[in-house]
Amino acid sequence: MKCPKCKDIQLSRKGKAMSPERHSGPLFCTSCGGVWVSNNDLDRISEFSSVVSDDIDISGIEKDRDSMTGLCPNGHGIMIRAKVHLEPHFYLEKCSSCGGIWFDYGELNRIIENNLNENLAMLWTLSWQKIQREEKGKEYYHNLNKELLGDDIYNSLLELSRKLKDHPHQLRALALLHHEL
Ligand SMILES: [Zn+2]
Ligand SMILES: [Zn+2]
Repeated sequence: MKCPKCKDIQLSRKGKAMSPERHSGPLFCTSCGGVWVSNNDLDRISEFSSVVSDDIDISGIEKDRDSMTGLCPNGHGIMIRAKVHLEPHFYLEKCSSCGGIWFDYGELNRIIENNLNENLAMLWTLSWQKIQREEKGKEYYHNLNKELLGDDIYNSLLELSRKLKDHPHQLRALALLHHEL
């Protein structure tokens, strides 16, 4: 099985990540530090964090691996990317045929650290992508207002809007505010 990102590098298993009885476990690329996790192993990704980044010299790793879309190491053709909305963001790739997922160097640990390993398949659903975008938008909107208005006014306004939320005369309150200004 060849690395989706490196030319002619065979993926290999290493050390304790291998479970001989199942002939499974993650496959590594010794050149780019990427990891292939087959569909059967996706439910135990958190076990792989300690073995992922050992003994790879990352100084020579090209930074733009993440922008390439690779081929499934099992020969199923081009994989499907999904954006992971962390800061900074990155992309994972999944084979729609065998369900395996490719993690570029460091991505597996970031997934585990952010507790995204439980629902990894969700990343490839459109609704999830949409929710993430909306959350980002909401965050941006709030941060912008906070920055422009200052913490004090921003917090007072939020508190006021909480009080007015179900108030029968909330329009009157808005009009009053407008009038006073
Ligand atoms: Zn590689
Ligand atoms: Zn595949």
